Amino acid sequence: MTKSEANPFKIAQQQLDNVAMRLNLKKGIHEFLRNPRRELSVNFPVRMDSGEIKVFTGYRVQHNQARGPCKGGIRYHWNVSLDEVRALAMWMTWKCAVVNIPYGGAKGGVICNPKEMSERELERLTRRFTTEISIIIGPERDIPAPDVYTNAQTMAWIMDTYSSIKGYSVPGVVTGKPIHIGGSLGRNEATARGCMFTIREALKHFDHKVIPPEKWQPECEIGEIEGDICDGDEGTGYKIDNATVAIQGFGNAGSISAALLSAKGAKIIAVSDSKGGVANKEGLNIPQLIEHKSKTGSVIGFEGANDNLESKGVLELECDVLVPAALENQITDENADNVKAKIVAEAANGPTTPEADKILHEKNIFLIPDILANAGGVTVSYFEWVQGLQQFFWSERDVNVQLREIMTKAFHEVLDISLKEEVDMRTGAYMVAVRRVADAIMHRGIFP
Ligand code: GLU
Repeated sequence: MTKSEANPFKIAQQQLDNVAMRLNLKKGIHEFLRNPRRELSVNFPVRMDSGEIKVFTGYRVQHNQARGPCKGGIRYHWNVSLDEVRALAMWMTWKCAVVNIPYGGAKGGVICNPKEMSERELERLTRRFTTEISIIIGPERDIPAPDVYTNAQTMAWIMDTYSSIKGYSVPGVVTGKPIHIGGSLGRNEATARGCMFTIREALKHFDHKVIPPEKWQPECEIGEIEGDICDGDEGTGYKIDNATVAIQGFGNAGSISAALLSAKGAKIIAVSDSKGGVANKEGLNIPQLIEHKSKTGSVIGFEGANDNLESKGVLELECDVLVPAALENQITDENADNVKAKIVAEAANGPTTPEADKILHEKNIFLIPDILANAGGVTVSYFEWVQGLQQFFWSERDVNVQLREIMTKAFHEVLDISLKEEVDMRTGAYMVAVRRVADAIMHRGIFP
């Protein structure tokens, strides 16, 4: 087995084990948290456009619900496995706890290749999968959202199918919906925006030593990105000016991170997708690159680049901030030593293996762990759910201001504990999160 195929569930368990001792976690609670509470595997038929019937396999795993209903995305990918979904569900439990929103963790996945399926086939697959998992999801039970290769349209189909089963509209069964059926403004950009807020706090943490806060430049004018006129970030007094950034992955998290960071003055020196990478030391023009990708399906061949790279080559570039925004197991003990970034912000789930964590820490690289760095998505999912339950919708500015507050607070809670305990940021984040979940279990008590 190559490193990139390392079992994500074993890694997730190892990450938990790593803090269980530090937290003096009771043995039984530790054991309970090492495994998902509930798992559903389904095999279901879908009629393809050719008339052929194909059978697909999917999963919904609920890791823990001590702090509230389960929450987590659904991914469509050819490499989905039960162990991957288990790991992603466990990471959702910690993610919701670290930003202190009232949810437990879950995740879903279907083994399929969405790139080779038509829109109609994807709709039929989604509707049938929803029917199969409808026995365990629901607005008070378990609320799916988009993840890798699923989007607002997928959520609309899930919401419609679930509502048809119930006989009335149930918008709260999913988040990440289109705006006109109860989605939240700012949800599409939320993972990237949350990640940007944590990167900014990390840069501040570094710069504190060099530039005192009273000398920070005033925030650049907001509005470089069309429609981004009120990002809730006005007057916070800190620019991400000229920080050099490399991004692996150019999907929702990667491309929007590139757009938001470059609009704040950062220089995006390289990006990659599954087909390859492009670079320009002077900074890539991100709006043009996004257009290129939407026309051609990849970042490769972009005219504004003056260098080409392998997909994983982006991880080894000299830069201030590296954003892995693709899949699990990208930074391993095979390449961690070549990472030259000062800060690694994990927009993806599980991009760094525990062995690589150690190497990065020894190299003094500041890592913002996935459960913190990419928690903006589920945080605005929570806002969407709250808005839907109250039938009262917020402005985009209100969403972004609340998001900034939650992300900034969580970042500093994690930073404080990591400085106090002299541990890396991942361990710090786990200490905050696992403590909260264990406390919730103890307060509720063990039934009967
Ligand atoms: N799939 C996203 C994640 O991994 C969002 C989950 C959600 O909004 O429930 O955090």
